[in-house]
Amino acid sequence: MAGAMDMGAYEYDAVIVGAGPAGLNAALVLGGARRRVLLLDGGPPRNVTAQAAHGVFTRDGTPPADLKTVGLEQLAPYDVTVLGTPAREIRPEDDGTFSVRYEQRWVRARRLLFATGVRDVLPRIPGLRERWGRTVHHCPYCDGWPNRAARLAVLGSHQEGHHLALSVRSWSDHISLLTNGPDELTPAQRRDLRELDIERCDRPIRHFSGRDTVRVTFEDGEVREYDAIFLNPAQVQRSRLPELLGCELDEKSRVIVNENGMTSRRGVWAAGDMTGAPQYVMSAAASGMVAAVSLNSTLIHEDVRRGGAAFHPSPDEEKGVGEA
Ligand SMILES: Cc1cc2nc3c(=O)[nH]c(=O)nc-3n(C[C@H](O)[C@H](O)[C@H](O)COP(=O)(O)OP(=O)(O)OC[C@H]3O[C@@H](n4cnc5c(N)ncnc54)[C@H](O)[C@@H]3O)c2cc1C
Repeated sequence: MAGAMDMGAYEYDAVIVGAGPAGLNAALVLGGARRRVLLLDGGPPRNVTAQAAHGVFTRDGTPPADLKTVGLEQLAPYDVTVLGTPAREIRPEDDGTFSVRYEQRWVRARRLLFATGVRDVLPRIPGLRERWGRTVHHCPYCDGWPNRAARLAVLGSHQEGHHLALSVRSWSDHISLLTNGPDELTPAQRRDLRELDIERCDRPIRHFSGRDTVRVTFEDGEVREYDAIFLNPAQVQRSRLPELLGCELDEKSRVIVNENGMTSRRGVWAAGDMTGAPQYVMSAAASGMVAAVSLNSTLIHEDVRRGGAAFHPSPDEEKGVGEA
Protein backbone atom coordinates (compact mmCIF):
# COMPACT_ATOMS: atom_id res chain seq x y z
CA MET A 1 0.00 0.00 0.00
CA ALA A 2 1.33 3.49 -0.80
CA GLY A 3 1.98 6.00 1.97
CA ALA A 4 -0.10 9.12 2.48
CA MET A 5 2.11 11.26 0.23
CA ASP A 6 4.43 11.08 -2.73
CA MET A 7 7.61 9.93 -1.01
CA GLY A 8 9.89 11.67 -3.49
CA ALA A 9 13.46 11.17 -2.33
CA TYR A 10 12.39 9.71 1.01
CA GLU A 11 12.01 6.03 1.42
CA TYR A 12 10.16 6.19 4.73
CA ASP A 13 7.98 8.68 6.55
CA ALA A 14 9.48 7.43 9.79
CA VAL A 15 12.14 5.05 10.98
CA ILE A 16 11.44 3.62 14.42
CA VAL A 17 14.50 2.28 16.19
CA GLY A 18 13.62 -0.44 18.71
CA ALA A 19 10.74 -2.93 18.82
CA GLY A 20 9.86 -3.18 22.50
CA PRO A 21 6.39 -2.10 23.69
CA ALA A 22 7.11 1.58 22.90
CA GLY A 23 8.41 1.02 19.37
CA LEU A 24 5.77 -1.58 18.49
CA ASN A 25 2.91 0.64 19.59
CA ALA A 26 4.39 3.63 17.77
CA ALA A 27 4.61 1.50 14.62
CA LEU A 28 0.98 0.45 15.02
CA VAL A 29 -0.18 4.04 15.31
CA LEU A 30 1.94 5.35 12.42
CA GLY A 31 0.95 2.37 10.25
CA GLY A 32 -2.69 3.12 10.99
CA ALA A 33 -2.06 6.73 9.98
CA ARG A 34 -1.07 5.43 6.52
CA ARG A 35 2.59 6.22 7.03
CA ARG A 36 5.36 4.26 5.43
CA VAL A 37 7.43 3.03 8.33
CA LEU A 38 10.61 1.07 8.88
CA LEU A 39 10.84 -0.61 12.29
CA LEU A 40 14.34 -1.75 13.16
CA ASP A 41 14.21 -4.51 15.72
CA GLY A 42 17.57 -4.87 17.42
CA GLY A 43 16.67 -7.72 19.77
CA PRO A 44 14.54 -8.78 22.71
CA PRO A 45 12.78 -6.31 25.04
CA ARG A 46 14.16 -5.42 28.45
CA ASN A 47 11.98 -7.90 30.34
CA VAL A 48 12.96 -10.85 28.13
CA THR A 49 14.11 -12.98 31.08
CA ALA A 50 10.80 -12.60 32.94
CA GLN A 51 8.34 -15.47 32.71
CA ALA A 52 5.31 -13.18 32.75
CA ALA A 53 4.52 -9.50 32.41
CA HIS A 54 2.16 -8.16 35.07
CA GLY A 55 0.09 -5.00 35.22
CA VAL A 56 -0.61 -5.27 31.50
CA PHE A 57 -4.21 -4.36 30.66
CA THR A 58 -6.10 -7.38 29.23
CA ARG A 59 -2.83 -9.38 29.08
CA ASP A 60 -1.88 -9.85 32.73
CA GLY A 61 0.68 -12.63 33.15
CA THR A 62 1.55 -12.95 29.44
CA PRO A 63 5.17 -13.91 28.69
CA PRO A 64 7.03 -10.90 27.24
CA ALA A 65 8.00 -12.86 24.11
CA ASP A 66 4.29 -13.54 23.42
CA LEU A 67 3.47 -9.83 23.78
CA LYS A 68 6.12 -9.08 21.19
CA THR A 69 4.89 -11.81 18.83
CA VAL A 70 1.34 -10.40 18.90
CA GLY A 71 2.68 -6.85 18.58
CA LEU A 72 4.56 -7.80 15.43
CA GLU A 73 1.65 -9.82 13.99
CA GLN A 74 -0.72 -6.89 14.38
CA LEU A 75 1.49 -4.71 12.17
CA ALA A 76 0.70 -6.95 9.20
CA PRO A 77 -2.13 -4.84 7.66
CA TYR A 78 0.02 -1.72 7.55
CA ASP A 79 2.84 -0.38 5.43
CA VAL A 80 5.34 -1.14 8.17
CA THR A 81 8.52 -2.97 7.24
CA VAL A 82 10.07 -4.79 10.18
CA LEU A 83 13.71 -5.80 9.96
CA GLY A 84 15.38 -7.86 12.65
CA THR A 85 18.55 -5.84 12.66
CA PRO A 86 19.79 -2.86 14.70
CA ALA A 87 20.26 0.69 13.46
CA ARG A 88 24.02 1.25 13.26
CA GLU A 89 24.45 4.88 12.31
CA ILE A 90 22.28 7.92 11.80
CA ARG A 91 23.16 11.05 9.86
CA PRO A 92 21.14 14.25 9.78
CA GLU A 93 20.72 15.66 6.26
CA ASP A 94 20.65 19.33 5.25
CA ASP A 95 16.97 19.17 4.30
CA GLY A 96 15.92 18.08 7.81
CA THR A 97 15.60 14.39 6.95
CA PHE A 98 17.75 11.57 8.29
CA SER A 99 19.84 8.84 6.75
CA VAL A 100 19.80 5.65 8.77
CA ARG A 101 22.20 2.77 8.31
CA TYR A 102 21.44 -0.85 9.16
CA GLU A 103 23.88 -3.53 8.09
CA GLN A 104 25.55 -1.96 5.00
CA ARG A 105 22.41 -0.21 3.71
CA TRP A 106 21.42 3.45 4.09
CA VAL A 107 17.77 4.53 3.99
CA ARG A 108 16.20 7.96 4.21
CA ALA A 109 13.45 9.03 6.63
CA ARG A 110 11.50 12.22 7.19
CA ARG A 111 11.28 11.60 10.93
CA LEU A 112 12.93 9.41 13.56
CA LEU A 113 11.50 7.77 16.64
CA PHE A 114 13.82 6.18 19.16
CA ALA A 115 12.41 3.45 21.42
CA THR A 116 15.73 1.82 22.26
CA GLY A 117 15.17 1.27 25.99
CA VAL A 118 17.68 1.01 28.79
CA ARG A 119 20.15 -1.58 29.98
CA ASP A 120 20.13 -2.58 33.65
CA VAL A 121 23.57 -2.52 35.24
CA LEU A 122 23.48 -5.27 37.86
CA PRO A 123 25.92 -5.53 40.79
CA ARG A 124 28.79 -7.86 39.90
CA ILE A 125 28.00 -10.69 42.27
CA PRO A 126 28.40 -14.19 40.82
CA GLY A 127 25.06 -15.87 40.10
CA LEU A 128 22.99 -12.67 40.12
CA ARG A 129 22.66 -12.03 36.38
CA GLU A 130 21.52 -15.61 35.66
CA ARG A 131 18.58 -15.12 38.06
CA TRP A 132 17.54 -11.66 36.78
CA GLY A 133 13.85 -11.70 35.92
CA ARG A 134 13.37 -15.19 37.39
CA THR A 135 14.01 -15.01 41.14
CA VAL A 136 15.80 -11.62 41.16
CA HIS A 137 13.53 -8.66 40.37
CA HIS A 138 13.50 -4.88 40.50
CA CYS A 139 9.85 -3.92 40.56
CA PRO A 140 7.27 -5.05 43.13
CA TYR A 141 4.43 -3.92 40.84
CA CYS A 142 5.71 -6.42 38.25
CA ASP A 143 6.76 -9.29 40.51
CA GLY A 144 5.38 -8.53 43.98
CA TRP A 145 2.11 -10.44 43.63
CA PRO A 146 3.66 -13.83 42.74
CA ASN A 147 5.92 -13.30 45.77
CA ARG A 148 3.30 -12.05 48.22
CA ALA A 149 3.91 -13.10 51.83
CA ALA A 150 7.11 -14.85 50.69
CA ARG A 151 10.62 -14.72 52.19
CA LEU A 152 12.10 -11.71 50.42
CA ALA A 153 15.46 -9.96 50.49
CA VAL A 154 16.27 -6.52 49.15
CA LEU A 155 19.82 -5.96 47.92
CA GLY A 156 21.06 -2.40 48.41
CA SER A 157 23.27 -0.40 50.71
CA HIS A 158 22.18 3.21 50.23
CA GLN A 159 19.00 5.18 50.35
CA GLU A 160 17.63 3.22 47.39
CA GLY A 161 17.92 -0.05 49.38
CA HIS A 162 16.10 1.54 52.31
CA HIS A 163 13.39 2.88 50.00
CA LEU A 164 12.88 -0.44 48.20
CA ALA A 165 12.85 -2.45 51.47
CA LEU A 166 10.16 -0.19 52.92
CA SER A 167 8.13 -0.46 49.69
CA VAL A 168 8.44 -4.22 49.26
CA ARG A 169 7.21 -4.66 52.86
CA SER A 170 3.80 -3.87 51.47
CA TRP A 171 3.90 -7.28 49.70
CA SER A 172 5.44 -9.35 52.51
CA ASP A 173 6.31 -9.08 56.21
CA HIS A 174 9.40 -11.23 55.82
CA ILE A 175 12.04 -8.81 54.53
CA SER A 176 15.81 -8.71 54.96
CA LEU A 177 17.97 -5.90 53.61
CA LEU A 178 21.25 -7.34 52.32
CA THR A 179 23.82 -4.56 52.10
CA ASN A 180 26.69 -6.76 50.87
CA GLY A 181 29.24 -5.18 53.19
CA PRO A 182 29.17 -1.95 55.20
CA ASP A 183 26.08 0.08 54.40
CA GLU A 184 25.73 3.80 53.84
CA LEU A 185 22.44 4.17 55.64
CA THR A 186 21.75 7.07 57.95
CA PRO A 187 20.87 6.45 61.63
CA ALA A 188 17.28 7.43 60.80
CA GLN A 189 17.12 4.90 57.97
CA ARG A 190 18.47 2.14 60.25
CA ARG A 191 15.84 3.05 62.83
CA ASP A 192 13.11 2.79 60.16
CA LEU A 193 14.24 -0.74 59.37
CA ARG A 194 14.12 -1.73 63.05
CA GLU A 195 10.69 -0.16 63.49
CA LEU A 196 9.31 -2.15 60.57
CA ASP A 197 11.02 -5.42 61.52
CA ILE A 198 13.20 -5.43 58.43
CA GLU A 199 16.35 -7.33 59.22
CA ARG A 200 19.62 -5.67 58.12
CA CYS A 201 22.42 -8.01 57.10
CA ASP A 202 25.75 -6.38 56.22
CA ARG A 203 27.87 -9.44 55.50
CA PRO A 204 29.57 -9.52 52.09
CA ILE A 205 27.97 -11.92 49.63
CA ARG A 206 30.06 -14.53 47.82
CA HIS A 207 27.47 -15.78 45.33
CA PHE A 208 23.85 -16.58 44.53
CA SER A 209 22.59 -20.03 43.59
CA GLY A 210 19.31 -21.99 43.57
CA ARG A 211 16.64 -22.66 40.99
CA ASP A 212 13.14 -21.91 42.28
CA THR A 213 14.46 -20.00 45.30
CA VAL A 214 17.62 -17.94 45.80
CA ARG A 215 20.35 -19.27 48.01
CA VAL A 216 22.69 -16.54 49.19
CA THR A 217 26.15 -17.69 50.24
CA PHE A 218 28.00 -15.10 52.32
CA GLU A 219 31.78 -14.75 52.48
CA ASP A 220 31.77 -16.27 55.97
CA GLY A 221 30.20 -19.45 54.58
CA GLU A 222 26.66 -18.99 55.91
CA VAL A 223 23.89 -19.77 53.44
CA ARG A 224 20.41 -18.26 53.53
CA GLU A 225 17.47 -19.02 51.29
CA TYR A 226 14.89 -16.54 50.02
CA ASP A 227 11.96 -16.94 47.65
CA ALA A 228 13.01 -13.83 45.74
CA ILE A 229 15.36 -10.86 45.80
CA PHE A 230 14.55 -7.30 44.80
CA LEU A 231 17.07 -4.62 43.87
CA ASN A 232 17.13 -1.28 42.13
CA PRO A 233 19.88 -1.42 39.49
CA ALA A 234 21.58 1.50 37.79
CA GLN A 235 20.63 1.98 34.15
CA VAL A 236 22.29 3.22 31.01
CA GLN A 237 20.90 3.92 27.55
CA ARG A 238 20.84 0.74 25.50
CA SER A 239 21.83 2.68 22.39
CA ARG A 240 24.23 5.59 22.01
CA LEU A 241 22.58 6.72 18.77
CA PRO A 242 20.29 9.36 20.37
CA GLU A 243 23.24 10.95 22.17
CA LEU A 244 25.45 10.81 19.07
CA LEU A 245 22.71 12.54 17.13
CA GLY A 246 22.71 15.35 19.69
CA CYS A 247 19.57 14.51 21.68
CA GLU A 248 19.94 16.08 25.11
CA LEU A 249 20.17 13.74 28.10
CA ASP A 250 19.32 14.53 31.72
CA GLU A 251 21.59 13.95 34.73
CA LYS A 252 20.46 10.30 34.86
CA SER A 253 21.31 9.86 31.14
CA ARG A 254 17.69 9.69 30.08
CA VAL A 255 16.74 11.29 26.79
CA ILE A 256 14.90 14.52 27.53
CA VAL A 257 11.50 14.74 25.83
CA ASN A 258 8.54 17.08 26.12
CA GLU A 259 5.02 15.84 26.88
CA ASN A 260 4.65 14.73 23.24
CA GLY A 261 7.86 12.72 23.18
CA MET A 262 9.80 15.32 21.14
CA THR A 263 13.51 15.34 21.90
CA SER A 264 15.70 18.45 21.81
CA ARG A 265 16.64 17.51 18.24
CA ARG A 266 14.17 18.62 15.59
CA GLY A 267 12.53 15.73 13.74
CA VAL A 268 13.42 13.20 16.44
CA TRP A 269 11.05 11.66 19.01
CA ALA A 270 11.75 9.19 21.81
CA ALA A 271 9.46 6.96 23.87
CA GLY A 272 9.50 4.34 26.59
CA ASP A 273 12.02 3.54 29.33
CA MET A 274 14.82 5.53 27.68
CA THR A 275 13.00 8.80 28.37
CA GLY A 276 12.40 8.41 32.08
CA ALA A 277 8.71 7.64 31.55
CA PRO A 278 7.43 5.24 34.23
CA GLN A 279 9.11 1.94 33.41
CA TYR A 280 6.24 -0.42 32.70
CA VAL A 281 5.00 -2.15 29.56
CA MET A 282 1.78 -0.12 29.47
CA SER A 283 3.54 3.23 30.05
CA ALA A 284 6.10 2.45 27.36
CA ALA A 285 3.36 1.50 24.89
CA ALA A 286 1.34 4.61 25.81
CA SER A 287 4.33 6.91 25.35
CA GLY A 288 5.00 5.25 21.98
CA MET A 289 1.47 6.16 20.96
CA VAL A 290 1.77 9.76 22.15
CA ALA A 291 5.09 10.21 20.33
CA ALA A 292 3.70 8.64 17.15
CA VAL A 293 0.67 10.94 17.13
CA SER A 294 2.87 13.98 17.66
CA LEU A 295 5.31 12.89 14.96
CA ASN A 296 2.45 12.23 12.56
CA SER A 297 0.83 15.58 13.21
CA THR A 298 4.04 17.33 12.11
CA LEU A 299 3.97 15.25 8.90
CA ILE A 300 0.33 16.23 8.35
CA HIS A 301 1.26 19.90 8.69
CA GLU A 302 4.21 19.51 6.34
CA ASP A 303 2.07 17.70 3.75
CA VAL A 304 -0.68 20.30 3.97
CA ARG A 305 1.86 23.12 3.52
CA ARG A 306 3.41 21.35 0.54
CA GLY A 307 -0.07 21.11 -0.95
CA GLY A 308 -0.28 24.92 -0.72
CA ALA A 309 -2.74 25.02 2.19
CA ALA A 310 -2.40 25.66 5.89
CA PHE A 311 -4.13 24.89 9.14
CA HIS A 312 -5.49 27.96 10.81
CA PRO A 313 -5.77 28.04 14.57
CA SER A 314 -9.30 27.39 15.77
CA PRO A 315 -10.66 30.03 18.15
CA ASP A 316 -9.80 27.89 21.18
CA GLU A 317 -6.18 27.20 20.32
CA GLU A 318 -3.18 29.41 19.80
CA LYS A 319 -1.18 26.94 17.72
CA GLY A 320 -2.13 24.40 15.08
CA VAL A 321 -2.26 20.78 16.09
CA GLY A 322 1.25 19.37 16.40
CA GLU A 323 3.07 22.63 15.71
CA ALA A 324 6.05 22.88 18.00
C1 LIG B 1 13.18 -8.40 34.55
C2 LIG B 1 12.14 -7.38 34.21
C3 LIG B 1 10.79 -7.67 34.42
C4 LIG B 1 9.83 -6.73 34.10
N1 LIG B 1 8.51 -7.02 34.32
C5 LIG B 1 7.56 -6.14 33.98
C6 LIG B 1 6.18 -6.44 34.23
O1 LIG B 1 5.83 -7.50 34.75
N2 LIG B 1 5.25 -5.50 33.87
C7 LIG B 1 5.62 -4.30 33.32
O2 LIG B 1 4.73 -3.50 33.02
N3 LIG B 1 6.92 -3.98 33.09
C8 LIG B 1 7.89 -4.88 33.41
N4 LIG B 1 9.20 -4.57 33.19
C9 LIG B 1 9.54 -3.28 32.57
C10 LIG B 1 9.34 -3.38 31.04
O3 LIG B 1 10.09 -4.47 30.56
C11 LIG B 1 9.81 -2.10 30.37
O4 LIG B 1 9.19 -0.98 30.98
C12 LIG B 1 9.46 -2.12 28.89
O5 LIG B 1 10.01 -3.26 28.26
C13 LIG B 1 9.98 -0.86 28.21
O6 LIG B 1 9.68 -0.91 26.87
P1 LIG B 1 10.56 -0.07 25.83
O7 LIG B 1 9.91 -0.31 24.51
O8 LIG B 1 10.73 1.31 26.29
O9 LIG B 1 12.02 -0.71 25.87
P2 LIG B 1 12.52 -2.23 25.69
O10 LIG B 1 11.49 -3.22 26.05
O11 LIG B 1 13.82 -2.28 26.41
O12 LIG B 1 12.78 -2.32 24.11
C14 LIG B 1 13.82 -1.58 23.51
C15 LIG B 1 14.19 -2.30 22.24
O13 LIG B 1 15.08 -1.49 21.48
C16 LIG B 1 16.04 -2.36 20.89
N5 LIG B 1 17.20 -1.60 20.47
C17 LIG B 1 18.18 -1.02 21.21
N6 LIG B 1 19.08 -0.43 20.40
C18 LIG B 1 18.67 -0.64 19.13
C19 LIG B 1 19.18 -0.29 17.86
N7 LIG B 1 20.32 0.40 17.71
N8 LIG B 1 18.50 -0.68 16.75
C20 LIG B 1 17.34 -1.38 16.86
N9 LIG B 1 16.81 -1.75 18.05
C21 LIG B 1 17.47 -1.38 19.17
C22 LIG B 1 16.32 -3.37 21.98
O14 LIG B 1 16.90 -4.53 21.44
C23 LIG B 1 14.90 -3.63 22.50
O15 LIG B 1 14.26 -4.63 21.78
C24 LIG B 1 10.20 -5.48 33.53
C25 LIG B 1 11.56 -5.19 33.33
C26 LIG B 1 12.52 -6.12 33.67
C27 LIG B 1 13.98 -5.80 33.46
